[in-house]
Amino acid sequence: MVERIRAAYERYLRSDDWKVKRERALDRAERRCQICYSPEGLEVHHRTYERLGQERDMDLTVLCGSCHGSFHELLRMRQRAAFDETEPPPPPPPRHLDIPDYNALGDDDDDDEKGQ
Ligand SMILES: [Zn+2]
Ligand SMILES: [Zn+2]
Repeated sequence: MVERIRAAYERYLRSDDWKVKRERALDRAERRCQICYSPEGLEVHHRTYERLGQERDMDLTVLCGSCHGSFHELLRMRQRAAFDETEPPPPPPPRHLDIPDYNALGDDDDDDEKGQ
């Protein structure tokens, strides 16, 4: 991130305005990580800094510390792949790793529609 933006960002993170938005994001996610559903060590991630100060709800994602870390690692890898043309992006996973056809799994796993 550009230093000037970083300084403004850090100032913003200490503002009451941000605290309100952060709380609202946490409430919306029911105070759970939106990846692993953990209630521990939650952080609010900006998907974009375009609207810093006027974020839309969709600009914010609630993540636990551990998912947040891995998420940024993934973003860094993607950025590196996009900028470094000597290093091609990794190939797509082989077909046999695809999730099997949902209908082929049978009826005996957990059913979400309980109480019949
Ligand atoms: Zn998580
Ligand atoms: Zn983040």
